[in-house]
Amino acid sequence: MGVRGFLRAMAVGAFALLAACAHAPEPPREVLPARELSPLEQALHTHVAELASDRYGGREVGTEGEALTLDYLQAQLEAAGLESGTHDPGHDWRKPFSFEGRRKKTVQTHNIIGRLPGTGPRFGAVLLVAHWDHLGQGRECRRHRGDRICNGAIDNASGLAMMIEIARQLAKGPRPVRDIYFLASGGEEAGLKGAYDFTADPPVPLDKFVAVFNLDTEGLSPPSSPAVVLAGPRTEGLMELIDKTANDTGVTLVAPNERNLAFLKRQDGWAFAVNDVPAVIVSAAFADDARFAAFLDRDYHRASDGVEHVELGAAADMVAFHVALITRAASPATLPQAPRDEISANDP
Ligand SMILES: [Zn+2]
Repeated sequence: MGVRGFLRAMAVGAFALLAACAHAPEPPREVLPARELSPLEQALHTHVAELASDRYGGREVGTEGEALTLDYLQAQLEAAGLESGTHDPGHDWRKPFSFEGRRKKTVQTHNIIGRLPGTGPRFGAVLLVAHWDHLGQGRECRRHRGDRICNGAIDNASGLAMMIEIARQLAKGPRPVRDIYFLASGGEEAGLKGAYDFTADPPVPLDKFVAVFNLDTEGLSPPSSPAVVLAGPRTEGLMELIDKTANDTGVTLVAPNERNLAFLKRQDGWAFAVNDVPAVIVSAAFADDARFAAFLDRDYHRASDGVEHVELGAAADMVAFHVALITRAASPATLPQAPRDEISANDP
């Protein structure tokens, strides 16, 4: 083919491509085999369906959707058996903070902080994090077929659903030794703002936290999927505990890859890592490279991230895994790493 012919073919090709974009049918989605949902999967699904419904407007910071989200989370975490973890009677449960948003506009928003009190808080504390905010109808929300609301079902209603059910199971169990804190962070999508506010103004000194676990963008994979650990610095002791817990709970751990490692600094745990607090994210969704890549291509930060595409099988497994892991991290007998302040030899 000569150059002229080639260029003509290119032009025709480009036109065909444009025409195809305007009318292209969606590539077929994976059809997962129908199965009966476990009671835990049902519970997770109910939370996701609520938080990712249009009524919440996509959980954008500073909107009516934020107020509804905070109400739902506080009510669910209270019903699960937690108490406020702000240690500020003026702001039970809701820690206000602000950050500079677009065009230097100040955005006022909140973190939700809950606590399951331990019997020996002098041994430190453990923290579970999941961000509550999403893109709403803001500029970063990619519209999808006339839908303008980024509901954030996978990112991160799925992580919030897991947090609620993990809280319920931990509160029902024996009292932990260390305090267990729960942070539903705001402003994550604007750059981990809520997590950084927590580290700058923590409810107890930051060096009390011996382990931080983040839940973000679960809800992609079927039951019995492997998981990956994305770990910040100072996590050697924690990694041993994670390995052992994975072994004991039948979870297969796989090595991180380039795609999921790119998210290490783009998730709330990083705000703790840079402050020298051991922080990890243990995730089945990040480990499932084919589904994670398809999610990034198709639904990530797009109005199509709705409850209809959520698969909560692996999320349910990861609830059980995190309950076991947090129970162990909350005991100095199973995670002997001491907080950096001195512990008396006479302490139990
Ligand atoms: Zn996001």
